[in-house]
Amino acid sequence: MSLIILDRDGVINHDSDDFIKSPAEWEPIEGSLEAIARLNYAGYRVVIITNQSGIARGLLDVETLNRIHSKMRRMLAQVGGRIEAIFFCPHGPDDNCDCRKPKDAAFKDLAHRLRV
Ligand SMILES: [Zn+2]
Repeated sequence: MSLIILDRDGVINHDSDDFIKSPAEWEPIEGSLEAIARLNYAGYRVVIITNQSGIARGLLDVETLNRIHSKMRRMLAQVGGRIEAIFFCPHGPDDNCDCRKPKDAAFKDLAHRLRV
């Protein structure tokens, strides 16, 4: 089975210069959830890798991020879609972590955990 890796902000939901800080601010781009469902139906596993520096900036915490992702999963389930895993970098651009894209630690972690 093939794997599709998607970004989140600006791909699945509308992005914001002020960051997505709450479930209410997370709004899907029209057609994106249906597109994921169609990928699933065609046999693709779909995962997300997303930079979420709003956490490092103190704009939201991991619990809130989880609630945002619960909303995304719930809305996606309503159209028959499923995201297998969500990998996020909580660090800021100056933290020099290895998981913030375009660095590849999240991709390696994904490959290890999903055995792909
Ligand atoms: Zn990171």
